[in-house]
Amino acid sequence: MKLALIGVGQAGGKVVDEFLAYDADTGADVVRGALAVNTAKADLRGLDHLPEDRRILIGQARVKGHGVGADNELGAEITEEDIDEIQGAFDSVPTHEIDAFLVVAGLGGGTGSGGAPVVARHLKRIYTEPVYGLGILPGTDEGGIYTLNAARSLQTFVDEVDNLLVFDNDAWRKTGESVQEGYDALNADLVKRFGVLFSAGEIQHGGDVAESVVDSSEIINTLAGGGISTVGYAEVEVDEPERGGLLSRFRTEDTTPDSTEATNRITSLVRKATLGRLTLPCEVEGTERALLIVAGPPEYLNRKGIEHGRKWLEEQTGSMEVRGGDYPRRGDGTVAVLVLLGGITNVPRVKELQQVAVEAQNNLDEITDESEDRFSELMDTDDELESLF
Ligand code: GDP
Repeated sequence: MKLALIGVGQAGGKVVDEFLAYDADTGADVVRGALAVNTAKADLRGLDHLPEDRRILIGQARVKGHGVGADNELGAEITEEDIDEIQGAFDSVPTHEIDAFLVVAGLGGGTGSGGAPVVARHLKRIYTEPVYGLGILPGTDEGGIYTLNAARSLQTFVDEVDNLLVFDNDAWRKTGESVQEGYDALNADLVKRFGVLFSAGEIQHGGDVAESVVDSSEIINTLAGGGISTVGYAEVEVDEPERGGLLSRFRTEDTTPDSTEATNRITSLVRKATLGRLTLPCEVEGTERALLIVAGPPEYLNRKGIEHGRKWLEEQTGSMEVRGGDYPRRGDGTVAVLVLLGGITNVPRVKELQQVAVEAQNNLDEITDESEDRFSELMDTDDELESLF
């Protein structure tokens, strides 16, 4: 499906940048417009693929290009104040060509955490296309303020978008890597998954392709209904039969893959994708809607395998709304399965974050109560003082 991407904050900008590289490398041609919005000039300068005029520096009058630190309230305020400038950049995006907007941000910091929900709310007001969020949760080792920011932003962001796709850094970080190396690897994992998802809906029916190709309406329907979604992915290398070429007609061996093997390969990949590491780990049971996409050379996209996989997903999720289809692609040398779980309900990390938000609110209430008590004590003292005269 055709997307307009908007990265807010540093992580948002970097992921959008990586999406552009993916789009160009794979020839997927999914991205119809891309923007990076930030309060920090240096972060915008660090991007590699996004053209200069698509990098929008906001809040110059307030923070002079130095960013907002981890102050997400300031991030939200500045985004609100400069929303016309952001809208101005959208005016040159061919929005009539797109199927959806995707607003990307790390939820633990300041600009993305505060600004992404503001941008999403604005887009929903102006355009009729769905607005999806891609929210990145911080590692638990990043510290309290990041967790608290993420807890608050998650609640706001999920209300402002048509669906919030989530990637949890905490579940994906590897030990022994520098932060930067770590992020590069995470971003590659992240973009591979969401890249396959969105480019699957871009294949046109007919020609070389199988009959049950996933189209963008199936992605949109799986994401409809809102809430939070997660993605699972698994792949295996295969020998891709060569096509055409001068020598092909002299070849005697049969290059058509064995169909039982193809079925089994797909069903086992569906299990691996679903039960392996999801972008946001969760209990699969209780998922409202799901979509299964099998990508690979058309010879390997076995109808029976996809149907078995789809049935198995129905059993695992308990959902009656499980869609499935192909994404024929050549040249990658893999068969890959992507599982989109839309509207997940049992997510330990989200419960943990909600708990943090509730505790922080209680502490805040306590502090407010305390200062109110102290204030009235002070007033009482004043009364006492007055009565002395
Ligand atoms: P902002 O610029 O104020 O929005 O803040 P950042 O985007 O720098 O950081 C917010 C959070 O995003 C951090 O707490 C990290 O968890 C995460 N983060 C930062 N950079 C990256 C990145 O390149 N990739 C990923 N996956 N996460 C990142």
